[in-house]
Amino acid sequence: MAKYTGPVCKLCRREGEKLFLKGERCFTSKCAFDRRAFAPGQHGRTHQGRSDRESDYARQLRAKQKTRRLYNVYERQFRRYYGLAQRRQGMTGFNLLQVLESRLDNVVFRMGYAVSRAEARQLVVHGHFHVNGLRADVPSMLLKPGDVLTVHESARKNAYFKELPEVAEPRTVPAWIERDVKSLTGKVLRLPERAEIDGNIAEQLIVEYYSR
Ligand code: SF4
Repeated sequence: MAKYTGPVCKLCRREGEKLFLKGERCFTSKCAFDRRAFAPGQHGRTHQGRSDRESDYARQLRAKQKTRRLYNVYERQFRRYYGLAQRRQGMTGFNLLQVLESRLDNVVFRMGYAVSRAEARQLVVHGHFHVNGLRADVPSMLLKPGDVLTVHESARKNAYFKELPEVAEPRTVPAWIERDVKSLTGKVLRLPERAEIDGNIAEQLIVEYYSR
C-alpha cells in the first residue's frame, strides 16, 4: 500500500475515533473528529451506523488499519512486524504491539520528546538522536531493554531542543521507560506490559486478519 499523504484527520474520521495523530491540536476545539464525527466522503454520514452491520473481515481490517495508522507504519512493514511477532514466544497480537512500541520514533514520542509519533519520526529522520552513543536516524529501528537514547550535541543548540526540557516535563512517561528531561536522555527499561499500551487496540482481530 502506498504512503498516505492526505489529511491525517480524515484517518480518525475513517476509523470512527480519535487517533491523536496531531499532538496538541487533538486536545483543542480544532479537532476535526470532534467537529465532524462521521466518516469522510459523500456517504460518510449515512455510513455512521456501519459497525452493527460490519462483517468479521471488515472489523479485522479496520483493527489492522487503525493500528497501522496509530503507529504511522506502512503496510509492508506492518506485515513484517507481524511475522516477527509470530516468531517470538507468547501471544502474537501482544508481541506485535511490543514490536510497534519498541520502534525508535514511538520511544521518542513516549519519552515526551515529541508531541506525536509523526513529529518524533521527523526529529529522528533529521538525525537529532543517538542510541547507545551512535547516530540513529531510522524511525523503524527497534530498541531493546537497556538501550539509551540521547539528543545529539549539535541539536541541543536549536530552539526546539532548548525549550524541550520545560515543554516535556509535564508529559507523563510510561513505567517501562526512564527519562531524564533535564539532560534530554532516556532509557528503555523493559518492553511494555499489555496494560501499558493504550489506543484501544483489538490485537486479536489483527491476528485473525492475517490468519485468514
Ligand atoms: Fe484525529 Fe487529532 Fe485530527 Fe482530532 S485533531 S481528527 S484526534 S488527528
